Amino acid sequence: MLIPCLACESRFRPEEYFQACHDYRRGKDLVFWTCPRCGNQDELRVFPGELGFGYQRRGKFDVSDRLRVPGLRRQRQDMRLDISLEEKVWRVPTRSRQLAGAH
Ligand SMILES: [Zn+2]
Repeated sequence: MLIPCLACESRFRPEEYFQACHDYRRGKDLVFWTCPRCGNQDELRVFPGELGFGYQRRGKFDVSDRLRVPGLRRQRQDMRLDISLEEKVWRVPTRSRQLAGAH
């Protein structure tokens, strides 16, 4: 299965896609992703078995599109989110400077 960039519509294999996730915002449960091809930044939420894409509105994240990723799992850790799929794990770190402002 392939995961699209919502801006340039390039499609990525899960390992390419999750490698490009660079920031986990724990307070909002959001992962930030930057497209390796076009530089677009998307925000997404990782659910068991699917990804949720959407927008922040009034401090809340509204999921508008969901993409099924069978077997996808997530685990919140202290300073990161672990995303796993088929034996592989990607660790998306929380930037420490965000801790002060996180609710
Ligand atoms: Zn792109």
